[in-house]
Amino acid sequence: MREPLIAGNWKMNTTMNEAKNLVQAILNQLDGTDSVEKVLCPPFISLANVKELLKGTSVGLGAQNMYFEDKGAYTGEISPVMLKDLCDFVIIGHSERRQYFFETDALVNKKVKKAFEYGLKPILCVGESLEDNEAARTEQVVTTQVTAGLAGIGSKSQLVVAYEPIWAIGTGKAATGKQANATANMIRRIVAGLWDMETAESIRILYGGSVTGDNIAEFIIEPDIDGALVGGASLKANEFVSIVKQTVSLKSTQ
Ligand code: PEP
Repeated sequence: MREPLIAGNWKMNTTMNEAKNLVQAILNQLDGTDSVEKVLCPPFISLANVKELLKGTSVGLGAQNMYFEDKGAYTGEISPVMLKDLCDFVIIGHSERRQYFFETDALVNKKVKKAFEYGLKPILCVGESLEDNEAARTEQVVTTQVTAGLAGIGSKSQLVVAYEPIWAIGTGKAATGKQANATANMIRRIVAGLWDMETAESIRILYGGSVTGDNIAEFIIEPDIDGALVGGASLKANEFVSIVKQTVSLKSTQ
């Protein structure tokens, strides 16, 4: 039985003050949601403050990125050593990082390795572009991203994979539940091939891409989808809480 997971990726949004207000607004409404794991991923500058606010609550903390070296002359970067006592999760290989910061599968792989080395749970993001989707290359692209992203890594049930078709991110045009589940199932089979069936059955696979309170149910009812990585909607407390609460009730009936 996999524990459902709803993670909020705030991206490059919120000042420290706005982050504090958003966390408080979310925490005020989370009673009765213990059966679903919740994670907030604010910008780096707010991690320490948000950690304080989350102390003693059922909500975990995640970073949106990290570098793969422990320390040194890498101006502007944040290392796993800096994050390990702060965060539970780290998002790795988000499509925005692949697109705007030229992150390759090889770099993503180094980061995933390092995250595990320091006890951080990586949320490995994969997903195809609109062009690849229209050319029926989803399977090929996602297979390459998962295989390369996990190269040289032994089986780890703490892995989280987020299937995020690029054409669905921030566009308001989500995949259908069936499309997302088909790819999530394929990812599970890839992981079973790379590692083993038991681990593949234990890892959580999330869907991400224009998830809101209005469409979360469509994804959550699918057997291979264990939750969501939520961008824009995670910046609105009511919307994020609605996603969490629907996940609580839908997963409890499965
Ligand atoms: C994301 O940032 O991972 C994401 C899925 O964004 P959005 O929900 O805004 O599409």
